[in-house]
This record gives sequence, C-alpha cells and structure tokens, in this order.
Amino acid sequence: MRKTAEPNQKTIEHAEVGTVVFKKNPRSKRITLKVKTDGTILITLPKSVAYKTAEPILEEHIAWIKVQLEKAKVKQKKTALSYKSTYQIRNKTLQILPSDRDALRISNQEDRIEILCPQIWDLSKKEVQEQLQHLITEILRSEAKNYLPERTEDLASQKGILINTIRVKKVKTRWGSCSSKSNINLSLYLMLLPDDLIDYVILHELAHIKHQNHSAAFWNHLEDLLPRAKALDKQLNAYRIPFL
Ligand SMILES: [Zn+2]
Repeated sequence: MRKTAEPNQKTIEHAEVGTVVFKKNPRSKRITLKVKTDGTILITLPKSVAYKTAEPILEEHIAWIKVQLEKAKVKQKKTALSYKSTYQIRNKTLQILPSDRDALRISNQEDRIEILCPQIWDLSKKEVQEQLQHLITEILRSEAKNYLPERTEDLASQKGILINTIRVKKVKTRWGSCSSKSNINLSLYLMLLPDDLIDYVILHELAHIKHQNHSAAFWNHLEDLLPRAKALDKQLNAYRIPFL
C-alpha cells in the first residue's frame, strides 16, 4: 500500500530539550542528529524514512544533546559585550567602561568612543546586553551616515559610475545591495570592517550597476575597478560581526 508523503519539515516540543526540528533531505542516506552553535536541534532524515523512525534516536541522545546545548550557551556567552570588549570603528576604538553614574553615557572623541556603563548594572543580564547592543548600533549608524555616502560618491566619481540614491541601513545578513535603478544600500555594520573591505563592498555594489548578477562578466568588471577584488571577497566572507 502506498503511504501519503509526509511534509519536508516538522517541529516538535520536547519536554527536556525544547524545540527539535526534523527535516527530510532527498540527498541524505541516513538519519543524522546535530546541535547547531545557535542551539538549534536538527534531525535530518532521508525522504523515504518516516518521522516516527527518528524519534527513538532522539530519545537515546537526550543526554548528549543537553551537553551540546550547554556548549552552545558557553560559546554564545563568549561573544557577549563586556568591559573587556573593544571594537574598531575605522580609526576610532570603541570601548565599554564602568562608571559611577546611574545611566548609560557616550563619550565620543577623535580617536575613541567610550560607552560609560553604570557599574552597578549586571552586564550578564539580557536587558543590559540588549541596551548596549542597541547603543552600539546607534553609534555605528551615526558613524556610517557620516562616512559611507560620501565615500561611495567619491569612489563612484573616481570610476565614472552614476548612482541614484545611497542609503545606510541596519542589515545584519548582507553588507550591501544594489537595485536595478542604481540605488545602493549599505549596512551600518560595514563600519566594523577595515577600510579596504569597506571600499571592496562599495565597489562590489557599484559594479552591480552594470551587471545585476555574479557572472564572469561581473567579476571582470569588478576586477577592473579593484584588482584585488577576489582576495578581498575571500577576506570578507571569513569575517563575522563580533557581537551579533
Ligand atoms: Zn553581489
């Protein structure tokens, strides 16, 4: 008898470990279980295998999953903002310092930005982390608006490229984008990159004005604009925003 096909994905709430995602993958040959660094528990199974077949495997591995979840937590904690955290926003060093005031304050100087944080606050608390992240994002937004549009216009005029609008946005998933109408969007998180990588992203988007894809013609054009483009692209792909 033919069974009706099960959906490609299913999520359950497990009493001990929380959300578990089951995914069917036509390419997998066996059932695999993993805990991702963000704490997602994922069970992948071949398309022909029923979800209930994987359930005993999940139960057998509950202890192991708990250990992996703890490890993921420790890893996530490492990237939390602390008094030891320093970030480079182009030529400025950003640092969080303890202060005896009772509210957050920013001191913005020529070569450094200090976030003065009440020392009575518990930095390990989620609300404090969120406030600090929000503040850093606003600092980055302001620095980005001062730098990125002007730099983009300079590079565009140097290369003889016409652009329409330039916008700075809070985008975590990509550094930049370019529309068919020559509108350029840049992520404010670019400000955490070294100058040569910022220029690379800008020139990459400028190159998209001529080629709206990543074809060989696009890369040739980009390498005309910036001879080290491919090497810089590799460097950029290895980069992770430290506190996100
Ligand atoms: Zn691109």
